[in-house]
Amino acid sequence: MDVYGGQVNKLIAELSGLPGIGGKTAQRLAFYIINMPEDRAKNLADAIVDAKTNIKYCKTCYTITDREECPICASEKRNHKLIMVVESPRDLAAYERTARYDGVYHVLHGVINPALGIGVGDIKLKELIVRLEKQDVEELIIATNSSVEGEATAMYISKLLKPSGIKTTRIASGVPVGGDLECIDEVTLLRALEGRITI
Ligand code: ZN
Repeated sequence: MDVYGGQVNKLIAELSGLPGIGGKTAQRLAFYIINMPEDRAKNLADAIVDAKTNIKYCKTCYTITDREECPICASEKRNHKLIMVVESPRDLAAYERTARYDGVYHVLHGVINPALGIGVGDIKLKELIVRLEKQDVEELIIATNSSVEGEATAMYISKLLKPSGIKTTRIASGVPVGGDLECIDEVTLLRALEGRITI
């Protein structure tokens, strides 16, 4: 029996489509939102629409930003000859939280995953190659996750860059296998970064 009515069910259905949100949590959130003061609910809805409308990729590193170029790429305090390749903006944020990495990033937005039909052309790899042709780079640190796909993508990039002579390193495998970089504490991330090896 439809106990809530269409509007509430629609909200619950939308919320339960978010990652990590099961049916019960979706219901709890839906009722929380319904009971919010109207201006707060509107602020939430506006924030979602604004983020979706205004957020774009940084023209250099492809992280998400509301500017043409993200604050990291635009900073003169960062070492632009050191590029760390990460899978997602969340991984970038994890390394930024350590406050010890002074290079810049390149965000792939995924890894090569044939099982899911994600090929070389589906991630920002071409963009990395174009960037490396224009930018003077001393070292490229490949910090994709240590999942099978993350490792395979790291190997693919290192082979691709061999002829360029750019030093390519891989973060140490102190990062748990299959571990999501985002969930790993800062000490472990720093250890993985400092223990990186040339590949
Ligand atoms: Zn950037």
